[in-house]
Amino acid sequence: MLVRPYIKDGESFQSYLYRCARLNSWTDNRLKQFLRAEVAPLYSYKADDREKLKNWLSNISGRSKVSSLIDVWLFYSNFKEYFDFSRFKICPSCYAESSRVIPAYWHLRAYLVCSEHKTLLTDICTSCGENLTPESVIAGKCLSCHTDIADFSTKRVKPDIYSNVAYDVFESCKEQEIFSRELERSYIPLLKSISILAPLTGLASEIGYEYKQRRFLSIEQLHQYQFSSSELYQSSEKLSECLLKVVNSCVSVGRVSLANIFLKKAKDFEDDDGSFFRQAIRELIMSEKLDHEELTAGLSWVARLFKYDEKAFIQFVEKEYSSLIMRKPRENILVLHLPEVIKTFES
Ligand SMILES: [Zn+2]
Ligand SMILES: [Zn+2]
Repeated sequence: MLVRPYIKDGESFQSYLYRCARLNSWTDNRLKQFLRAEVAPLYSYKADDREKLKNWLSNISGRSKVSSLIDVWLFYSNFKEYFDFSRFKICPSCYAESSRVIPAYWHLRAYLVCSEHKTLLTDICTSCGENLTPESVIAGKCLSCHTDIADFSTKRVKPDIYSNVAYDVFESCKEQEIFSRELERSYIPLLKSISILAPLTGLASEIGYEYKQRRFLSIEQLHQYQFSSSELYQSSEKLSECLLKVVNSCVSVGRVSLANIFLKKAKDFEDDDGSFFRQAIRELIMSEKLDHEELTAGLSWVARLFKYDEKAFIQFVEKEYSSLIMRKPRENILVLHLPEVIKTFES
């Protein structure tokens, strides 16, 4: 390798490798073929292959710091679903300002809006729509219309919490182990709220999120979906409004069980990461905004939601509120006028 660039701040292993290839006029194809024959497959997720690739780049570039760069493909085994391995996305402004550095956290699936520029990342050429690929990144330009990637246009949007937290947590992260640890400790638990909240907004079916494969959705659509969840996560008022709408639309078609409305989400919100959601449902129930003439609630479900001792709670209701109980064969014991029951039980 004739040209051996310096490693830049915030650079991932992929970023440095692609810059080296570009400055030495290698194409993606040539790089892949060479590595497969001489070192290890470039897109292998096996740890020993990753090690070989790093050692090779370290030797050939003469930069020992290569060994400490974050290698995105090392996340493949444990965190596959949190990264984009087939979609390549960048912030054109950051890319231009940093002279083509691509940080590891840009590969996070939920990182869709640049926190610095408040613009949407892009995975396509903004002039002609051609996909951005490692090949075009190595070339530094769109392979179809030859627009320089640094000249791609940007689109301002409101950042969502999942993009912002990704930036806050990982932007300054320079080590593979710390990156993994932070993913597990703080980021993945936060991401669970997307699957709880986004489906409540109705936007999911609008953009086809439920039945289309993710890769067929644009970054803009993914951001809409993620943003709808972000808004609910950050405002208990909006979440409460949204929950009220969901319940009322069910009530409008007749008497309905609260548990049935939220049961699909039960698995998600019973653990600690869903406690904000549990709290919102509790508040809604106790706010008396709901029509409790029409709403029933399974006692076991209520006990789980309010963290009561199930047996004690059921015994209490059977004794004190037998007139409100409706028994259904092979089903839960259901009760009407839940807020009244709860207030008395808690007092
Ligand atoms: Zn940016
Ligand atoms: Zn193009």
